[in-house]
Amino acid sequence: MVKMTKTDQGDLADAIRVGARRGPQCFGAYFDDHGGSCALGAAYDGMYLIPREHGVVIPKHLERLFRCLDEVVKTCPVGCKKRLPLAAMIVHLNDDHQWSREQIADWLANGANGPAS
Ligand SMILES: [Zn+2]
Repeated sequence: MVKMTKTDQGDLADAIRVGARRGPQCFGAYFDDHGGSCALGAAYDGMYLIPREHGVVIPKHLERLFRCLDEVVKTCPVGCKKRLPLAAMIVHLNDDHQWSREQIADWLANGANGPAS
């Protein structure tokens, strides 16, 4: 298992916060037609500051931005026992638990730990 540095997670959290300021949150897709983004879409947006007026962009290789996204497996912090790669976990928290993007950014910044025992 690859050890993710705090900086990686912190950078990812910062990207989500930047992207989250650019539009409303959406669920079930990285981006919607109304300028919305899910937490992972927001991270991509925050990194690249995509010109949204050019239409909806579907990032296919976000994991290249942050190696940690597909190399680090996380346990769901909500306690549903899911274990997923970080990218899938971010989408899971966004879509299934409907965490706000800021909540997800805070979780990442604080170490992306599983449920408190
Ligand atoms: Zn869960």
